[in-house]
Amino acid sequence: MPVGLSSTFLRALDGIVGKGHVLTGDAAAGFAVDWTGFFRGETPAVVRPRDTTEVAAVLALCTEAGVAVVPQGGNTGLVGGGVPRHGEVVLSLTRLNHLGAVDREAAQVTAGAGVTLRQVAAADPGLDFAVLIASRDSATVGGAVATNAGGLRVLRFGPMRAQLRGIEAVLADGSVLSHLGGLVKDNTGYDYPSLLAGSEGTLAVITAARLRLVPRMRDAVTVIVGLGGLEEVHALAHRAVGEVPGLVSAEYFTQGGLDILVSHAGLMPPLPVPAPAYLLLEAFGPGAVEDLAAVIGDREAAVGISAADRERLWAYRERHPEAAGFLGVPVKLDVSVPASQWVRLASEVTGVVAAVDPDAIVIGYGHVADGNVQVNIVPAAPADGRHEDAVLSFVASLGGSISAEHGIGALKARWLPLARGEAERALFARIRAAFDPAGTLNPHVLPRLPAAEYPAEPYVVGLEPDQVVLADHGTRGDQAVRLA
Ligand SMILES: Cc1cc2nc3c(=O)[nH]c(=O)nc-3n(C[C@H](O)[C@H](O)[C@H](O)COP(=O)(O)OP(=O)(O)OC[C@H]3O[C@@H](n4cnc5c(N)ncnc54)[C@H](O)[C@@H]3O)c2cc1C
Repeated sequence: MPVGLSSTFLRALDGIVGKGHVLTGDAAAGFAVDWTGFFRGETPAVVRPRDTTEVAAVLALCTEAGVAVVPQGGNTGLVGGGVPRHGEVVLSLTRLNHLGAVDREAAQVTAGAGVTLRQVAAADPGLDFAVLIASRDSATVGGAVATNAGGLRVLRFGPMRAQLRGIEAVLADGSVLSHLGGLVKDNTGYDYPSLLAGSEGTLAVITAARLRLVPRMRDAVTVIVGLGGLEEVHALAHRAVGEVPGLVSAEYFTQGGLDILVSHAGLMPPLPVPAPAYLLLEAFGPGAVEDLAAVIGDREAAVGISAADRERLWAYRERHPEAAGFLGVPVKLDVSVPASQWVRLASEVTGVVAAVDPDAIVIGYGHVADGNVQVNIVPAAPADGRHEDAVLSFVASLGGSISAEHGIGALKARWLPLARGEAERALFARIRAAFDPAGTLNPHVLPRLPAAEYPAEPYVVGLEPDQVVLADHGTRGDQAVRLA
């Protein structure tokens, strides 16, 4: 019998979801480690309900018994929020995979929490889903709402919250909230769907979402430009935002990250001559090619117009989240700063890390037009919080956010006071208490404490770099983690 749950309790779970859908022991182990291998825990049981009624019954049972629950979707989250680090039960939502018929008149669809973002994007040949992230083959609607996922097209369409036209969710006591009508104008009280976007599984379990769809892009063109440095990346991205009306993406990476992908992922360099930094721009619509050409001028660039060529160019950027994992178990810090501070952040962060861990490897890339830098660190010194301390304090000193799009999760809970004042954190705690007074849902994520004191316990169960080998997977979004 798994530690921590009585056989009576397990039988009650079986009775709700069916025997084959309560996983224990080895069958549950893969749900307790994250995509990077950085977060690792254990769980007495993974429960896999198939619909909202079963979710409600499981939550009511757990709350009644005082059993903590971690909701989990595709397990691609990068801040440890979906991993049972303190022996919680995992509530896996992937069987809630019903995708409704597309309402073309409204350009909307209702998707179960377990539908992947790739499936939403493929729901209609003429319509697309605006949120595009490299993990789209595994990341689910529920997880993407819960993290308010951003991604590669935020500058044009906004993050997940901006796509929400309604939600269905279950509170910890088992009551079901349903508001899936899809009205664009609907001022009838508190906008709790918006509050659940970014709530990281701490307020309610999302079971379905009503999502807006956008017209599929036509005449799209993708370019990668080699540039002399980060100043030039920022200046060119800024120009593109102002002068290319069809711009959807402005992404950057550096030669350092590219070299790792060339050596370990088999990519060929995109341009004949290496450059210190690269800017990927994508635009669509009539005139997109001419508009981008005018901005790029006579700089060296790789251009993709066919779907295959565009996908090939996107791989240089979309595979960057894997790069650090080829060298060890990374500390992944997703941060953002005001536009005026972007160059300083992106160029000085390596030195900031070196001050606390001189032999660490730092790989930077990200969504330049959003001021969002992904700082991926392969530590040489113990991953004991020193890297987070250094980088997040630096970001805060620049007026930035310690989480641009991945959330606080377990990774950054200790540093929340850098970003949010005492009154704000006290309000967070009161909101949580209103939604989940018993503290069933994700109790160790975005801690409930109103004050500045955060648990001094080790906040991650880290692995030594040589204990973990990230899967040599070639597909984007593959969440497999192979343990050596
Ligand atoms: C290669 C790669 C690239 C990525 N790129 C991006 C990117 O560009 N932008 C970006 O924002 N993120 C990115 N991510 C992070 C991640 O994919 C997103 O955070 C995604 O939204 C997580 O979805 P998921 O279904 O995997 O959620 P999970 O990892 O399973 O869970 C994430 C959080 O949501 C909660 N949760 C999950 N499902 C539910 C539910 N139904 N109800 C309530 N709470 C729930 C969990 O408890 C946890 O706190 C990337 C990740 C990888 C691996």
